[in-house]
Amino acid sequence: MPAGAPRRLTADDLRRLPQPTATPAGCACAHLKCPGWESVAAPLGEPLLQRLGTLRDPEEADPTVQELHADGSRYESAHAPIAPAWFPYNRCEVWTCRTCGRGFLQYTEFGGYYVDHRLREVDPARVLGA
Ligand SMILES: [Zn+2]
Repeated sequence: MPAGAPRRLTADDLRRLPQPTATPAGCACAHLKCPGWESVAAPLGEPLLQRLGTLRDPEEADPTVQELHADGSRYESAHAPIAPAWFPYNRCEVWTCRTCGRGFLQYTEFGGYYVDHRLREVDPARVLGA
């Protein structure tokens, strides 16, 4: 692994993150409401969040764009599974709140005429797979 490369995380790492319901009401991250994917104006980072690692496989140049769903979920559903091997989780960076440890997934959609930064909190109960 090259020096400075982000740590590769697994589903088990995500399952160890705190339940979002445990976020203290006054925490600096409490205004982030993103049980499902939300668009944000710009990627979030320091000082609010710190990078924990990545779900991207450095060996995989062309990760799948297939999504994994359950219970009728769709991309934007709050109850959609968090499945690290599937889109869009397979291209996400993982960040945590510096204060309470709540986990967040972030990636950027590149369309023909736009870029769109997306944010979703990690609910450990929704994490599927390895
Ligand atoms: Zn927090």
